Amino acid sequence: MAELDCLFCKILADEIPADVVYESDEAIAFRDINPQAPTHVVIIPRKHIATINDLAPGDEAVVGSLFMAAGKVAADEGLANDGYRVVMNCNAAAGQTVFHIHLHLVGGRQMGWPPG
Ligand code: AMP
Ligand code: ZN
Repeated sequence: MAELDCLFCKILADEIPADVVYESDEAIAFRDINPQAPTHVVIIPRKHIATINDLAPGDEAVVGSLFMAAGKVAADEGLANDGYRVVMNCNAAAGQTVFHIHLHLVGGRQMGWPPG
């Protein structure tokens, strides 16, 4: 169910515009408003789940749909061969700012490891 004060639920409800690059029954993906790489796409489930800590039995397909989307978007963006990174931040220490789970897909430049 949509959360009234959730930014990503508002994007899902078309209340806030986004540059959508992928849509499925379970997930959508759009370009990050503050890109950290030449390609930076945010992939979110249609279902509002605040953090990884809030995943419940039955959410397996929802989470899987995010990775299915990542593979498709990476191919569409021409990143599949060179490589790219997907990351999901959880809570403050990881820098999560929007509390509706999302995968970041970043690519188009060399990634550092370990992440900062
Ligand atoms: P996180 O810090 O992991 O919670 O990631 C949230 C991401 O959402 C950040 O990379 C933001 O730049 C991005 N973001 C915030 N608002 C918007 C928006 N309106 N459209 C697209 N991306 C956004
Ligand atoms: Zn939400």
